[in-house]
Amino acid sequence: MGTVKDLLVEAVDRLADDLEGLSHRIHANPELCYQEVKAAGWLADFLAARGFAVERGVAGVQTAFRATLRTGDGPTVAVLCEYDALPAIGHACGHNVIAASGAGAGAALAAARDRLPRGRIQVIGTPAEEGGGGKIKLIQGGVFRDVDAAMMVHGWDRWVVHQDLLGVVRVGFEFSGKAAHASAEPWAGVNALDAVIQTFNAVGMLRQQIRPDCRVHGIVTNGGVAPNIIPELAAALFYVRAPRLADLGELAKRVIACAEGAARASGCGLKVIEHENTYEPMKRAGTLVDLFRANMKSLGVAESPEAKEQLGSSDVGNVSQVVPTIQPYVKIAPDGTPWHSRAFEAAARSPVAREGLVQAAKLMAMTAFDLLADPGLVARARHELTTHPS
Ligand SMILES: [Zn+2]
Ligand SMILES: [Zn+2]
Repeated sequence: MGTVKDLLVEAVDRLADDLEGLSHRIHANPELCYQEVKAAGWLADFLAARGFAVERGVAGVQTAFRATLRTGDGPTVAVLCEYDALPAIGHACGHNVIAASGAGAGAALAAARDRLPRGRIQVIGTPAEEGGGGKIKLIQGGVFRDVDAAMMVHGWDRWVVHQDLLGVVRVGFEFSGKAAHASAEPWAGVNALDAVIQTFNAVGMLRQQIRPDCRVHGIVTNGGVAPNIIPELAAALFYVRAPRLADLGELAKRVIACAEGAARASGCGLKVIEHENTYEPMKRAGTLVDLFRANMKSLGVAESPEAKEQLGSSDVGNVSQVVPTIQPYVKIAPDGTPWHSRAFEAAARSPVAREGLVQAAKLMAMTAFDLLADPGLVARARHELTTHPS
């Protein structure tokens, strides 16, 4: 009889066609933030059929679910699935692969349940990563309260076990001025668009003085209604990103000050809208990183160096602040394929994606097994979380 890890690997190989089918079905039916009814349903059905106790619509989020496999008292290890798509370009972030590999890890562990150490495996369906902050709602709803360690993967053009994620604050500015005929009596107006333009100029100058690992970028969401009317209303939306929570708050204040200055200079009123779904930076969970990396080695999967400049954000960062969490990157696309592109969307259902999906499912199942087998590792990961800065 082989080791438990051998059983997990064999189980994923046996399930590979089903998992790829699930991935392709989700890919062919892209659903936006909080509308992932089909994907959540298919994943929940898949896990229920393999012996998981499934709760649908957890924490008041209709398209979230929690599937639990219990083998006795012990640690709770969660595998997270994302399955939301992007507007217009479908599964260009490859969340179909995240979903299917998470379900595959769960199914493999269920297949080996008689030989699993005591504890609980939870596969948690987390909707609306692309801006909706689904995981923030699940954290607030207590879904992660009893979770000791969490893991998920994300597709990319390479394998990297740990990448930092930037925290991101979303801040909107609404300027109010006064309409007037733009040719006959421009002096009678107060130009709200000027305030928007001044805000962008001030932020552009501020950008020279910020740290290279911070990002500020925005769009004009209202630039007026007609060129012959001095805009009485204008608005912009900015994302402010930084790798540490304290820096994030500081930088957001400086961006808001740019808008306040622009409002004063142009004589406009200003309403600042701070959106509440702040994505927090990713905390590095060294113990989990090491376990995953060792499992990669044992399967012969080669890792690329951490990319220090290509930095994104995700609500898995919020999970990593409260529970030891990893989000390894899995090769599902040819080298150089950017996220959120048409090419990435096509890659997310390619043979490369199948290979990544299968490996990711094996590696998560193996890492979850490691944690159940040695609760001391879980305690060490918890200790790292509470002593790690930011
Ligand atoms: Zn994305
Ligand atoms: Zn993504």
